[in-house]
Amino acid sequence: MFDNLSDKLDKAFHILKGHGKITEVNVADTLKEVRRALLDADVNFKIAKDFTARVKDKAIGQDVLTTLQPGQLLVKLVKDELTELMGGDVAGINLQGSPTVILMSGLQGSGKTTFSGKLANYLKTKKNKKPLLVACDIYRPAAINQLHVVGQQIGVDVYSEPDNKNPVVIAENAIAFAKANGMNVVIVDTAGRLAVDQEMMDEIARVHNAIKPQETLFVVDSMTGQDAVNTAKAFNDILNFDGVILTKLDGDTRGGAALSIKSVVNKPIKFVGTGEKMDAIDVFYPDRMAERILG
Ligand code: GDP
Repeated sequence: MFDNLSDKLDKAFHILKGHGKITEVNVADTLKEVRRALLDADVNFKIAKDFTARVKDKAIGQDVLTTLQPGQLLVKLVKDELTELMGGDVAGINLQGSPTVILMSGLQGSGKTTFSGKLANYLKTKKNKKPLLVACDIYRPAAINQLHVVGQQIGVDVYSEPDNKNPVVIAENAIAFAKANGMNVVIVDTAGRLAVDQEMMDEIARVHNAIKPQETLFVVDSMTGQDAVNTAKAFNDILNFDGVILTKLDGDTRGGAALSIKSVVNKPIKFVGTGEKMDAIDVFYPDRMAERILG
């Protein structure tokens, strides 16, 4: 995960090794390499620039050059700043409401359906909940089938109305069904498109307004880098979502989405997807991720 970024940051800090005395120029060179590493990871230019500016300010503020181990202190400053960049504290999921309603949003192929299953499985096995999965993709019968297959795998009920073309009504009926059948979490999987389009946005906005979810989650493929950030912004403008799910972190992703999304939409990354299997879900801990990136 983020191997290339880790390597590049490691190389950046090498500049500080092997010097008898570290100078301001060495620190500036290191930070330049840190910035280059971030840009290489597909982090937006302004975010990368602001990042190194903040580290530099802190390094000056803490008089890094006069400390015993300036190199180590600089690594720590970068680690702290990476943690902040990815959201600071861990963000939990809001499970209030009876039932708790969770709306999944995102583009087609981002991993929404897979993640809906993973989340249902996580809530069932780790939080002792009784979830209901809801298929609100009215365009692709295959998507409805896929959710049924996922539900079967994890032993969670799936609500669908294959002949109903109104996702608002399906979602409302599903919530009534959950209430009548003792399910305490309703996870609504919605239709995605290959790119942001107005019709899709209008539709999900209508569903959102009607069911007033406790949690609206935006699912994004971490492999898509800065595009992921642009899509997040488009969805956030419409839904003002509560959190981000980064999928496919097990792939060869450069890290740009994980590092940029919080700065752009100011919403936390709540979970990550790390594989196709139903248990490949992790709570996102910004500090652990920063630790991992810096090795
Ligand atoms: P949706 O169109 O947004 O519902 O996306 P899907 O859930 O159908 O996922 C699209 C593809 O990505 C499927 O082949 C999934 O198996 C795969 N996928 C989803 N999440 C992950 C993940 O975390 N890691 C990997 N490697 N593949 C994933």
